[in-house]
Amino acid sequence: MSDYKIETKCIQSGYTPKNGEPRVLPIYQSTTYKYDSSEHLGKLFDLKADGHMYSRISNPTVSAVEEKIADLEGGVGALCTTSGQAASLMAVLNITSAGQNFVCLSSIYGGTINLFAVTIKRMGIEVRFVTQDMTDEEIEAKFDENTRLVFGETIANPALTVLDIERFAKLAHKHNVPLVVDNTFATPILCRPFEFGCDIITHSTTKYMDGHASVVGGVIVDSGNFNWDNGKFPELCEPDESYHGVKYVADFGKAAYITKARVQLMRDFGALPSAINAFLLNMNLETLPLRMERHSENALSVAKYLEANDKISWVNYPKLPSSPDYALAEKYLPKGSCGVISFGIKGGREAAVKFMDSLKLAAIVVHVADARTSVLHPASTTHRQLTDQQLIDAGISSDLIRMSVGIENVDDIIADIEQALAQL
Ligand SMILES: *Cc1c(COP(=O)(O)O)cnc(C)c1O
Repeated sequence: MSDYKIETKCIQSGYTPKNGEPRVLPIYQSTTYKYDSSEHLGKLFDLKADGHMYSRISNPTVSAVEEKIADLEGGVGALCTTSGQAASLMAVLNITSAGQNFVCLSSIYGGTINLFAVTIKRMGIEVRFVTQDMTDEEIEAKFDENTRLVFGETIANPALTVLDIERFAKLAHKHNVPLVVDNTFATPILCRPFEFGCDIITHSTTKYMDGHASVVGGVIVDSGNFNWDNGKFPELCEPDESYHGVKYVADFGKAAYITKARVQLMRDFGALPSAINAFLLNMNLETLPLRMERHSENALSVAKYLEANDKISWVNYPKLPSSPDYALAEKYLPKGSCGVISFGIKGGREAAVKFMDSLKLAAIVVHVADARTSVLHPASTTHRQLTDQQLIDAGISSDLIRMSVGIENVDDIIADIEQALAQL
């Protein structure tokens, strides 16, 4: 980890060319690596030497961006995945087995809810949902001896609730399990969850980290701070049969969790991104601080404009003083709370659809969190698989419009909203 400030790390971390080598991170488009001796390859297989064996498990271009992201979050290591979904799946499966359970905030991304409540459930692992307005006692009632982690999102997509990371880290640690935080919307520019006691971070890099709507990807980052040797995690402490007896905690210390995720789960699942996708992610990360600043600034201006407009029934943006999460946002997101806003239009679902169809600059897309302003109606699209109760639990009303404010000139964004509202 370097001592540079985060803006410098976004540019410099992960790849340092030696004399005469390419200035920019090369795309190592190779599945395979060549060795001078069988003995060296044997050492690699025994995890006794550093290096690459096969691009299902690691690749030099991917490694460079992993190192950069680990540095940005302040972790000991990172593992890139082909999508945010793959990162969430592997972050959970790395420390859970059939018969166990985990506690999860209900206001998380709809895709993650499906993954946890349906697909992971079919593997015999139970998710127990909690909400932030429950008391500590009510939340703790969900834990038992088979609970293995707590999962939440820094800024929930699309409910925009701000996670009280310190509170949930304390609750998790009281029960000797780690707090896993999906930091997709905040990015390490706006919030660094490890500084508040979180143990493992996941991201959909598809969103702001890529930021240009061009590459689907995910990442898991390990803080190295959690003590796995507490009796609850034999998979990290006892010999791994599938890896001729490697013991992750004894052999890899602080990097035990992330090493297991790579050499066991990534080996078995094969969800490592391609070198070209890692190259694009690495390049786009260079401008992340500038983009997050502008996204946050533009979104606050749009949120204030909407709040003052009498055709709008409500606006939710954590940095508006009227937001129920304003105090949490001031604490965890001092620099801004990204570009995503939600609001309702008077006239409900019908007015929402008319408004969205009248927008010219802002496009209707499924995606959020890239350079271009976009809108979405979650209840009829991304969250349509959720039941009415799940929608309420996720904080999504039927009139909710999610706007992802881009980095265009904010005057143009507001003028577009104004002309669309005028058609109602
Ligand atoms: C989009 C998203 C995901 C899933 O990521 P993909 O890259 O689409 O697989 C997970 N968490 C959050 C908060 C997201 O916004």
